[in-house]
Amino acid sequence: RNYQQDRPLTKSAIVIGGGLVGSLCVSLLAQRGYKVTLFEKRGDIRKLESANGRSINLALSHRGRQALKLIGIEDEALSHSISMKGRLLHNINGHTKSVIYDPVSNQCIYSIGRNYLNRALLDVAEKDPNVRLCFHHKLTDVDFQTGFITLKSIKSGEILQTTADLIIGADGAFSSLRSFMQKTALFNFSQNFIDHGYLELCIPPERGGKLHPNHLHIWPRRELMMIALPNLDNSWTVTLFMPFKKFESIRNSENLLHFFNDIFPDALPLIGETELKNFYFSNKPSALVSIKCNRYDMNGKFLIIGDAAHAMVPFYGQGMNAGFEDCFLLNEILNETRDDVGRTTVLFTKKRQIEANAICDLAMYNYEEMRDLVTKPSFVIRKLLDTYLAKIFPRIWIPLYNSVSFSHMPYSKCIENKHWQNQILYATFSLLILVMATLVVLLRAI
Ligand code: FAD
Repeated sequence: RNYQQDRPLTKSAIVIGGGLVGSLCVSLLAQRGYKVTLFEKRGDIRKLESANGRSINLALSHRGRQALKLIGIEDEALSHSISMKGRLLHNINGHTKSVIYDPVSNQCIYSIGRNYLNRALLDVAEKDPNVRLCFHHKLTDVDFQTGFITLKSIKSGEILQTTADLIIGADGAFSSLRSFMQKTALFNFSQNFIDHGYLELCIPPERGGKLHPNHLHIWPRRELMMIALPNLDNSWTVTLFMPFKKFESIRNSENLLHFFNDIFPDALPLIGETELKNFYFSNKPSALVSIKCNRYDMNGKFLIIGDAAHAMVPFYGQGMNAGFEDCFLLNEILNETRDDVGRTTVLFTKKRQIEANAICDLAMYNYEEMRDLVTKPSFVIRKLLDTYLAKIFPRIWIPLYNSVSFSHMPYSKCIENKHWQNQILYATFSLLILVMATLVVLLRAI
């Protein structure tokens, strides 16, 4: 644990948002000796039977794990998850092919329940005497000059004004704290909704055993795709990603069954026709957004992290992992500045902004890879080459997916790596073609 036991409790912090990132951040700050208050607008999800929201399960990888380790729950989280050692690609005829993520050292990503993880993080936070959890409290106003924020109790309507040495917005993609930052001069922000949405379906436990275990299943269909991640109870959470126009064009049960029979014939009996109709027509597809900001800090006290700072489309499975890495980095910078909060917030933007933009771009790129490129021979050849070269030069040749998911290499460096690897491969192939062409000319001349 990262306990600063000899540190006197002289600093205070407020975290807005008790989602995955906010509840982890609270524990990290409390371990440092900060008196931390968490304000969350919803109720305590630990008291709810089932919490509504986005994806039911998530892929946890190295960056997320290293932050969980800091608060001592990495092993517990892994024991509540299912390892996924590769992608299992389903073609339209129902044939499958396994593509292992890391054939050289067998590293895996892990499917973990969002609600389980959020609850576990809140449990850890609550056990720390430095933490106060306030549910049903919504951030409604921010005064950057005085450093005071205003919260409203959803239950009683009571208004509360408060401040702290450090105020962190971990309040998600549509962050309230960020919306106040957006109104200040020189704060740049971009928000891109892609024209594809997603809908969650389910393969129930009784049929879950029919899917090959320990894989992330993908049904890549060029313009659209479906994926399935395993749950501990043997069920699978299935997510259908496709253009909103396509969702709109499927208007009745007949359209829907026809579409699934044509496009995902092997998945239909696993989901079940009746269940599919129920899921599909009782839920609306959700939108996917990518958000970038030119800074995350304000006035030496305020900071946004997680989706509030850099929401991304989910195709690299990195949104939560990157948010957890924000907490890890924040902790490191606080170590570096010896808890000089003002310098920390500025340094956080400086160190994180390029990296967050890089993973937002990579996540966008990976949608194309998952729904289309994985089916192409060039992808298979590249994967073979990557595996072969990674075996020979394990320290130098780290394939893009591995550097993103199995290391803490800065995201921008992962992209740089991929560029020079591409250049080397293109140069080698060009040289080979040149040598072969020269040989042919010479042989003909003889
Ligand atoms: P959130 O989870 O959105 O939490 C924000 C919290 O702030 C909420 O509890 C909210 O109630 C609260 N809040 C909001 N406004 C206020 C306010 N005004 N006052 C007080 N509280 C407030 N990531 C991965 O790493 N791996 C994956 O496999 C993966 N799969 C995904 C699949 C899908 C379909 C989607 C949509 C996302 C996926 N992600 C994945 C991304 C991941 O879900 C997010 O990056 C992560 O949830 C961000 O956590 P957060 O705490 O920053 O925000």
